[in-house]
Amino acid sequence: MPTYSRLPVSFDYGEGVYLFDKEGRRYLDGIAGIAVNGLGHAHPGVAAALTEQADKLLHTSNLYGVELQEALAERLCEVTDMERCFFSNSGAEANEAAIKLARLFGHDRAVEKPAIVVLEGAFHGRTLATLSATGNRKIQAGFEPLVSGFVRAPRNDIEAIRQIAANNPDVVAFMAEPIQGEGGIYELDPEYLLAVRELCDEHDWLMMLDEVQTGNGRTGTWFAYQDMGFTPDVVTTAKGLGNGVPIGACLARGKAASVFGPGQHGSTYGGNPLVCAVALTVVDTILGSGLLDNAVRMGALIREHIESATASSGKLRSVRGKGLMLGFEVNRECPELVAKALEQGLLINVTNGNTVRLLPPLIINETEANELAEGVAKLILGL
Ligand SMILES: *Cc1c(COP(=O)(O)O)cnc(C)c1O
Repeated sequence: MPTYSRLPVSFDYGEGVYLFDKEGRRYLDGIAGIAVNGLGHAHPGVAAALTEQADKLLHTSNLYGVELQEALAERLCEVTDMERCFFSNSGAEANEAAIKLARLFGHDRAVEKPAIVVLEGAFHGRTLATLSATGNRKIQAGFEPLVSGFVRAPRNDIEAIRQIAANNPDVVAFMAEPIQGEGGIYELDPEYLLAVRELCDEHDWLMMLDEVQTGNGRTGTWFAYQDMGFTPDVVTTAKGLGNGVPIGACLARGKAASVFGPGQHGSTYGGNPLVCAVALTVVDTILGSGLLDNAVRMGALIREHIESATASSGKLRSVRGKGLMLGFEVNRECPELVAKALEQGLLINVTNGNTVRLLPPLIINETEANELAEGVAKLILGL
């Protein structure tokens, strides 16, 4: 079904930060499968984990113990200060788990119609509940009736959250992306999130962060919240966790860790031996090869390169984001840049109409980062 308007290219194989089409043409991947391929394409460690596990065991279901799932949960908790994990197959499902967890948490506290505060410009997925949580009418249009139980607030406006807290006793949780990805790379101020954390404690709300896109090393820490001086109660992730195998996770700590009991949520595939073997390798490789530091350094390099190359043109309006999650807002709508970049062997993305979005693999080196920055700078100068 034509749910995507696709670009006129398909790829045959990949190697590191590059993709190749059937004609052998090479493309520098500045998007990494939408923040998925942190370790790039055809990573030998990932390929080995995948094939070795495929030779042993793919799937048994969650009716039985799954040792690799337990090992991955332990590893993720060790890295993030969380205590328990539920594994899904995608980001939307990880958020569905968080939304269900919040509702159950509310009902446990005798709130009949538990509500979750979500933000304008948010993106949480395409299932009915997650598109209802999403703050973009285009994504919701035609799918009414939406799922109820979401209260919308403008981003970075702590007064708005205070107002909701004062007036709405049904609220049981707050959910947001630390940096809005699909919404155009908009960061939430760390001071705002800290204040939200305090409000959540004050009102017994769960603070839930959607790190589906920001997570797994992309912004320079495993999760983006980890250098902000607080810990959420629930965090969801997916995308970069599997480097291309479908896996998502909903992690929880403290009072949120013991909300679900047997039979209250589930997934046939979720956390099967194959995806967990790969995700364990992904976590160990990202953390073991200095890729968090690399994301910070290469992100700064790309940003500075593009800023200085375009400075005198006045065409670059602002740069947003962190690490290797970057948005370059230009002074007019620029959707045509995606096709232009493709012609030049560069894969980029434009969100919000006027913002060039870059999400390159975390393994990108200095030469490749300069190649990407130079290509993007040229495209911006040509506007
Ligand atoms: C991509 C994304 C999702 C949805 O993930 P899927 O795997 O496509 O279901 C949810 N939240 C955020 C922040 C995302 O970037």
